[in-house]
Amino acid sequence: MRNERIGDYLVSQGLITDEQLQRVLAVQKESNGTKKFGDVVVELGIMSEVNFTKALAGKLRVQYVDLDSIDIDTEAVQKVPEALARKHTVIAIAITGKRLTVATNDPVNFIVLEDIKVSTGMDTVPVLATTSAINKAIGKNYSMQNVDNVLDSINSTVGNDLGGPMDDESNDRVESAPIVKLATTIVENAFRADATDIHIEPFKTYTRIRIRVNGDLVELMNISSAVHSALTTRLKLISGMNIAEKRIPQDGRFTQTVDGTTLDVRVSALPTVHGEKIVIRILSTGQIALRKITDLGMSDYNYAMFESMLRVPHGVILVTGPTGSGKTTTLYAALGEIAKPNVNVITVEDPVEKAIDGINQCQVNQKAGMTFAAALRSILRQDPDIVMIGEMRDAETADIGIRAAITGHLVLSTLHTNDAASTVVRLVDMGIPSYMVATSLIGVIAQRLVKVLCPSCKKPRMSTEEENELMGIPSSIQIYEPCGCPECNNTGYRGRTAIHEIVHCTAKVSSIIAANGSKEDIEKAAKANGTRLLRDNASELVQAGETSIDELVRATFSV
Ligand SMILES: [Zn+2]
Repeated sequence: MRNERIGDYLVSQGLITDEQLQRVLAVQKESNGTKKFGDVVVELGIMSEVNFTKALAGKLRVQYVDLDSIDIDTEAVQKVPEALARKHTVIAIAITGKRLTVATNDPVNFIVLEDIKVSTGMDTVPVLATTSAINKAIGKNYSMQNVDNVLDSINSTVGNDLGGPMDDESNDRVESAPIVKLATTIVENAFRADATDIHIEPFKTYTRIRIRVNGDLVELMNISSAVHSALTTRLKLISGMNIAEKRIPQDGRFTQTVDGTTLDVRVSALPTVHGEKIVIRILSTGQIALRKITDLGMSDYNYAMFESMLRVPHGVILVTGPTGSGKTTTLYAALGEIAKPNVNVITVEDPVEKAIDGINQCQVNQKAGMTFAAALRSILRQDPDIVMIGEMRDAETADIGIRAAITGHLVLSTLHTNDAASTVVRLVDMGIPSYMVATSLIGVIAQRLVKVLCPSCKKPRMSTEEENELMGIPSSIQIYEPCGCPECNNTGYRGRTAIHEIVHCTAKVSSIIAANGSKEDIEKAAKANGTRLLRDNASELVQAGETSIDELVRATFSV
């Protein structure tokens, strides 16, 4: 059997042991041959997907290609229809004369190669790549191609009369297939790139589309000004705005499903000198909505402290940090942990960011007089056990929240402060008597998001003396810095994780708060009690090679 021979080859090359081979074969046998040898080797953690694929290439005498580090020829990609590529996990990557180079995860599958040969009329040269690299390349190359096709067809239908800015309101143009497709494709691409926001910005001669990934804006594409009006009108239409009104800001929303995930898409339109600027915020609903508290990226000691805080039946738990530091995600995760069928949970938010099952969520509406404070007062008449207040934005809201906690409710909320200890001082500054803060506060979690270094291209080096000081360590160690490769869009980072600083208000800390202690006094007592500062947390991540010194400085020094 072919598979057995691959196994023997790996053993003969010293890449796996005989014992590992027997384990793989046993799992394969158990699956009645439905699992491939390579999949099992990777699944059992014996070899990485890349190493296995390289070894397979060696055995079959086929070239191995790292799809992330080569330029894929778009002309070659288009030779193979998307459906065929997805069905067989192949992607055409280069054309040399009459020969088409095709990356596949199974170069001995002659039927597939024959299929491609027939449909393209070209000779196929197979090269080997990992399944995940091929799937990623398919997603990236075909979706960008979709945008190109859409823009081509728009240009061919409207591009010829570019005498002046396109007069758009004719409904057929806004409803025309290419514009509808363009709007959908932009949201799709942004979501697949893990973007949180899309900015569609009109300038004098073109419109720039940027997306926010890991907190930074990156350019997605530029489109012709001629398309701008039709695109914004389309987006305003589906998000329920008045399309005739272009002089005042408007807000709206719509839903779109991408790859099985339903997205809640918030749209805001702002008139600028060159037309309306559209900002789209992508909020996902459904399966990825609620993170568990174990998935917040907390260190073990922070997690233990957070968990013990959530077990206190009444009082106030605050999450603090600047905008975009993941406060709401933490609050929602906490709610998910404590919202049981036998308790009544009510939230008041602005806006309601994610719909959660089994929880009553109220939306603040300033215009209608439904302020945080007003909403909170009526909520407290609804017999709640747990109240989540989106933000303690003013003294009145903070006061009602603290009083609710003292009268036996569990109150969760957020506040805009730099660190955990200054939150306490801030509440007192807002006019809440310090004895009330001391009695009600269970604890404060300060948090920030830091970017995670791209594992494929991060570069090791020794830390300097100055950096040792920043990290609070005595001597130089190996750290990593961002570099940039195709896998991370040349940013050097992939994804973000959170760092936390938790002050648990124990009897000792509470007595300092009640005595009007300073931020430093509170911090000192908290540290004695096991609190690790944000900087300690960031330092640990740098030392573990997960983030960079730049990120440590950005997240913990500049606020
Ligand atoms: Zn990279």
